[in-house]
Amino acid sequence: MIANYHTHHTLCGHASGVSKRYVEAAIDLGLDTLGFADHVPCEFPDGYISSYRMYPKETKIYVDDILNLKEEYKGKIEILLGYEAEYFPELFEKMLKNIRQYPCDYLILGQHYTNNEYDGFYSGFRTCDRKTLSRYTDQIIEALQTELFSCIVHPDLLNFYGDDEFYKNEAFRLCEAAKKHQIPIELNLLGLTTHRAYPKDIFWEVASKVGNETIIGLDAHSPHAFNTEAVDLGIEYLNKFGITPIEKLKVSCAQFTTASQTSRKLNAFAVMDKENTRTRDAATAAILRNGMTLDLRRGWDSSSTMGR
Ligand SMILES: [Zn+2]
Ligand SMILES: [Zn+2]
Repeated sequence: MIANYHTHHTLCGHASGVSKRYVEAAIDLGLDTLGFADHVPCEFPDGYISSYRMYPKETKIYVDDILNLKEEYKGKIEILLGYEAEYFPELFEKMLKNIRQYPCDYLILGQHYTNNEYDGFYSGFRTCDRKTLSRYTDQIIEALQTELFSCIVHPDLLNFYGDDEFYKNEAFRLCEAAKKHQIPIELNLLGLTTHRAYPKDIFWEVASKVGNETIIGLDAHSPHAFNTEAVDLGIEYLNKFGITPIEKLKVSCAQFTTASQTSRKLNAFAVMDKENTRTRDAATAAILRNGMTLDLRRGWDSSSTMGR
């Protein structure tokens, strides 16, 4: 393992250890890239307060801390600044607006709730309700369509104990969509090492059949998460399903797009009208105006703003 993109920060309220200790633990483990992706801050309606994320007003503290680490450890390890975000349909634009005020290297998708958290179902609770599982899957697929995420973390978080065949079909939908959008999925070592309901064998059987790119994520909530035994367990787990993990993610910055609707539209142009040069040229021109580069394979990518 040479990179971990799933690292939390004490600002979320349930992670321990100052961020510097995480960096040192990552260097000790031999990583060359460490991505911080703490739970994204989000302003909820009606005074609802999330119990597991920093407040929106704390965003700058988080950003400054990670940017300082980037500088301090330059040449020793590459530090990336990201967020683990849900796709909450009602709140997504507002959430983006807040984080776009600052530099950002990437987003990973962790769908902890269906719907919008304040009116949703916590994905980790046991359920045999088919509608909840389908909603979870649909929401992840919608999130992929924004082309803003670099990875789906703990894709098997939804704790479904109902019919196996139904679960397999939903897992298949999710894995197929991830493959289509070329977004890797994560084997989550926090779940594996603390014996949670995920990783789910039945999910990984499907992922293996579909042939999804898979990356190992520590989901570090403490510097102790950086240990060789955990990584070995993860590799062993994936090997059972004939999966060899990839080492790096292709990170893309979500920050400087004028609106995600624009990127969705442009992406639709690029994908649907690949043969239509006129439309493609128009889409390319519009993308360049927005300071982004077009990668027809991945949709859009603003790698020119990386590392800011
Ligand atoms: Zn967490
Ligand atoms: Zn998570």
